[in-house]
Amino acid sequence: MSAREQKEIRSEFDCKHVFVTGGSRGIGRAIANAFADRGARVAILFRTNIAAANETLAELSGKGHIIVQADITKPDEVATAVSSVIEQFGGLDIVVNNAGIGISHPLESTSYDDWQTAWRQTIDTNLHGPANVCFCVARHMIESGGGRIVNVTSRGAFRGEPTKPAYGASKAGLNSLSQSLAVALAPHNIFLGVVAPGFVNTELTADRLEGKEGDEIRAQSPLNRVAEPEEVAHAVLFLCSDGSEFSTGTIIDLNGASYLRS
Ligand code: NAP
Repeated sequence: MSAREQKEIRSEFDCKHVFVTGGSRGIGRAIANAFADRGARVAILFRTNIAAANETLAELSGKGHIIVQADITKPDEVATAVSSVIEQFGGLDIVVNNAGIGISHPLESTSYDDWQTAWRQTIDTNLHGPANVCFCVARHMIESGGGRIVNVTSRGAFRGEPTKPAYGASKAGLNSLSQSLAVALAPHNIFLGVVAPGFVNTELTADRLEGKEGDEIRAQSPLNRVAEPEEVAHAVLFLCSDGSEFSTGTIIDLNGASYLRS
């Protein structure tokens, strides 16, 4: 890439303040890197793994990036984390709700107690958490004149998740929440998009991709592979770019044609 092309790409998100939940690892780390490479200041929210958060912070290009610790299942911690980022950055332009969990709880072999726990933890993390982040950041963006929010959901919202039904339901709920907010917030110049990946090569999926079902998972796509985190980041950048405003409310499938819908 020529120096000129590099400069043009870098300038796209210059001076933008970006907040990425779960930005310390996996897909979130790739998203944080993609924005930093293009000139943004990035705040990375993590829950417990401070080593991973610091590692990501150290690899981000540019200056002024920060990490913030919070459990998004706790509404007070979400509010404090959002306020802290806004205070440190002096504003917030782009928010990516990426943090999420997937708990295995097949109906045939899970106790009723464990079934309850899996549903509660999954919905708290994957739906209540992003809903609370959306509330806190959108109230700021309404006052500041606008912004972008991208929510990371999953192919499982459409295709079903037989061994993680709470996960599929949480992501379907987040799709719906995103569409409701796209309508509600457009008059405030706030645009919402969703990226719905199929399998992505991260720690969340490492065991399954390396195990006996790995070949079957890769073969779900005619490309015979899963996505790389950078490919998810690419779609997030599009939804936050100038010119994508009228795509608000859209859900970008990122599954290598492994599950097509129309
Ligand atoms: P990952 O590698 O497991 O990373 C998860 C990130 O979320 C970590 O930074 C983690 O922080 C953070 N996190 C988890 N629970 C949290 C909580 N309660 N509060 C705050 N932060 C929390 O996950 P990933 O594979 O990159 O997945 C990222 C997103 O993409 C998720 O929403 C996932 O559902 C979605 N997705 C992933 C795939 C895939 O194949 N990987 C496919 C479709 C959709 P700590 O490390 O500090 O705990």
